[in-house]
Amino acid sequence: MTHPDGLDQTVMPRPAARGPAPVARLVDWHAKCFKRARPIVAGYAWGNFLSVPTFEMIQQRGSMTKYKLEYIWLDGYTPTPNLRGKTQIKEFASFPTLEQLPLWGFDGSSTNQAEGHSSDCVLKPVAVFPDAARTNGVLVMCEVMMPDGKTPHPSNKRATILDDPDAWFGFEQEYFFYKDGRPLGFPEHGYPAPQGPYYTGVGYKYVGDVARKLVEEHLDLCLAAGINHEGINAEVAKGQWEFQIFGKGSKTCADQMWIARYLLLRLTEKYGIDIEFHCKPLGDTDWNGSGMHCNFSTKYMREVGGKEYFEKLMAAFDKNLMDHIAVYGPDNDKRLTGKHETAPWNKFSYGVADRGASIRVPHSFINNGYKGYLEDRRPNSQGDPYQIASQVLKTIATVPTDAKAAA
Ligand code: ADP
Ligand code: MN
Ligand code: MN
Ligand code: MN
Repeated sequence: MTHPDGLDQTVMPRPAARGPAPVARLVDWHAKCFKRARPIVAGYAWGNFLSVPTFEMIQQRGSMTKYKLEYIWLDGYTPTPNLRGKTQIKEFASFPTLEQLPLWGFDGSSTNQAEGHSSDCVLKPVAVFPDAARTNGVLVMCEVMMPDGKTPHPSNKRATILDDPDAWFGFEQEYFFYKDGRPLGFPEHGYPAPQGPYYTGVGYKYVGDVARKLVEEHLDLCLAAGINHEGINAEVAKGQWEFQIFGKGSKTCADQMWIARYLLLRLTEKYGIDIEFHCKPLGDTDWNGSGMHCNFSTKYMREVGGKEYFEKLMAAFDKNLMDHIAVYGPDNDKRLTGKHETAPWNKFSYGVADRGASIRVPHSFINNGYKGYLEDRRPNSQGDPYQIASQVLKTIATVPTDAKAAA
């Protein structure tokens, strides 16, 4: 069974390298360079310096492009880390590969990742994406390391998660747009007309005049970055939206989700609108909460599966209930109440096409002889996709497959 899109994630769009820099800029660049090395005396006395670049060096320099590398990482805040990013400019002959990107550092005492007296943390690039919003922009997803550059920082969950390139994940990220402390489109006092027409709705009355602009721009940025963005929809509550990201392997998929979140947050600066990722921002009301459903399939589930294996898998999910809830996002008890298409957080259930179950079994799964993907509906909008995917793999690993049982 293949994913409907037959995606090949190894192919990523790469912007073409820029041509030689204009001469004026080159001269300027060298002038700055020399100024830094030692003051230049009257009349550009180039010949006096041993470090004078040869013609070949200047030519080579001319074919280099200055890239804006945005190093992005997760800080040490709990229970939900924030995204952080800072830019460094580096020259490359063409769009840089992961291997070409150097380690970098930051002040961990400002991100809950170090004490003031020893504040250096190290950024280790782990995934690279083109950044269409900036000329020669590069988005660099990083892991945070200890000063030795080798030991993962305790806040760095990615370093220790389970991964399997044949495990496919599809995350459905729901979120609210917020403006002036309330969902976008909500009146200053009270509530708009009740839920019903907003989900997948169209028209000013339901979606306002700005949300779709932002959503579309975000979609384009994700696609330009080579992220496997799979779709968007207006959600059940007014001001609430969803996008879906698909990836093969837990790290690949979760890296893309974090970068997609980054791009969405960065875009809010342009529109003066916030994102509220909390899973139940309107509290105990009839307004929907936000989830991040995790659709998953392993090679075995797609190709072998079977009713017996499926039932064993569900028993394992039941047994590990608390381990899953622990990483499925904060305040999930406020969202997983048993109302609004949710299952109670403390009771595991599954059901065919059942949106009130912990795990929804798509019709296609049964029709294909218990093969395909399943949807865990419990992870919430603030959950960390690294830890969610890893926990799913951990539970799956406890269930013997035919091959394992025979061995
Ligand atoms: P719904 O809103 O009905 O729950 P969506 O279309 O929003 O469903 O999301 C379904 C998700 O399932 C998508 O992100 C898609 O990539 C993912 N998906 C589809 N096929 C597979 C598969 N074989 N393995 C893992 N995820 C899958
Ligand atoms: Mn969906
Ligand atoms: Mn949804
Ligand atoms: Mn879903």
